Amino acid sequence: MNNTEFDKRHIWHPYTSAINPLPCYEVVGASGVELILVGGEKLVDGMSSWWAAVHGYNHPALNQAAHKQIDAFAHVMFGGLTHQPAIDLCRKLIDITPDGLNRVFLADSGSVAVEVAIKMALQYWACQGRSQKVKLIAPRNGYHGDTFAAMAVCDPINGMHSLFQKSLVEHFFAPAPQTQFDQTWNADDVLPMREILEQHHHDIAALILEPVVQGAGGMRLYHPEYVKACRKLCDEFNVLLICDEIATGFGRTGKLFACEHAQISPDIMCLGKALTGGYLTMAATLCTDEVAEGTCVGDPGVFMHGPTYMGNALACAVANASIDLILEGAWQQQIPRIEKQLREELAILNDFESVADVRVLGAIGVVEMKQQVNVADIQQIFVEKGVWIRPFGKLIYIMPPYIIEPEQLKKLTSAIHFAIQRLYPN
Ligand SMILES: *Cc1c(COP(=O)(O)O)cnc(C)c1O
Repeated sequence: MNNTEFDKRHIWHPYTSAINPLPCYEVVGASGVELILVGGEKLVDGMSSWWAAVHGYNHPALNQAAHKQIDAFAHVMFGGLTHQPAIDLCRKLIDITPDGLNRVFLADSGSVAVEVAIKMALQYWACQGRSQKVKLIAPRNGYHGDTFAAMAVCDPINGMHSLFQKSLVEHFFAPAPQTQFDQTWNADDVLPMREILEQHHHDIAALILEPVVQGAGGMRLYHPEYVKACRKLCDEFNVLLICDEIATGFGRTGKLFACEHAQISPDIMCLGKALTGGYLTMAATLCTDEVAEGTCVGDPGVFMHGPTYMGNALACAVANASIDLILEGAWQQQIPRIEKQLREELAILNDFESVADVRVLGAIGVVEMKQQVNVADIQQIFVEKGVWIRPFGKLIYIMPPYIIEPEQLKKLTSAIHFAIQRLYPN
């Protein structure tokens, strides 16, 4: 059986049928902004491997950090042991994240970081003698991961709640924010959220949202004032605010963290994806001293979570190198340049009848079609055109590595134009 056959027959891929899987392309190398396929084709990467590879692939500084750490040690248990890579990483995360987030829990994936955040919020209130506060509230169209507690706060429709109805906890959902990022703020937008909180705050532990950019739940870009208003509501109703910055963190939206657009600090923040520059799976849940200490008073007196690979030294070392690159600051020129070019080159797509909306923020470009995109067909065109773009549902979107050159970005936007013209001319 050749590789293609074996893969198709035996290996699960994300969100893929085991009966009739979409084609997969075999990668043999990746360098800078390019993926290299087994047939030698070089593809300009528009996805950053799902928001992660912000510095591009095979980066000398990240490679060096990994080599150096693996020659020392790759991993030791984090129970009762600690090490320099973890200490450096947590110090950096506390330094660069919004004020007040002084405690770091290192998790092994984004979904786990969300599980940890939810568990912290519940345990916090239980330890305050408020054990009826066990529900969460979230805007619709959110995405927070694929594990069960995370899934339960994803959009109830596209998060597939109906499929797992009997095993998911039922939470509260407010309508998705309607005021777009660059529209004039309409304060009524947050009223439904206020009404639910007014009525149910005694039962609600935390409000969870993705600040400013709702990612996998619809690639929606909404107004920072909504985030600010949620912060105020949380204070008013004694509810913790969890900001899920797993997709938006580390510069993607033009600010180091998206909640800076709203100038707020959450009580709990989740980071992941770009944390290790796309090298290794690692995530982090940060919280305030108040939440950390409040979670550990009384019984059981400890926070009940501890993954086997917690604080993985290899991942910490690469994350440190990745954050150092971020701190060098080139992203502060790269992101506005990418944003400007995306706006200029994607705008023309509005002329197609088949296109519902074009939107851009930071290094994120989204083309929403009126109908579902045929992924297999469009990907074949993209690969022929020498680009890697992976649409889902009605969304063709790109969030390239920050180091992308203008000609490479042009290749991505031209390929989108070409594919729409070919497959959905009107
Ligand atoms: C990707 C993502 C997650 C889940 O992270 P995984 O590492 O895939 O488990 C959670 N929240 C948001 C906002 C994400 O984009």
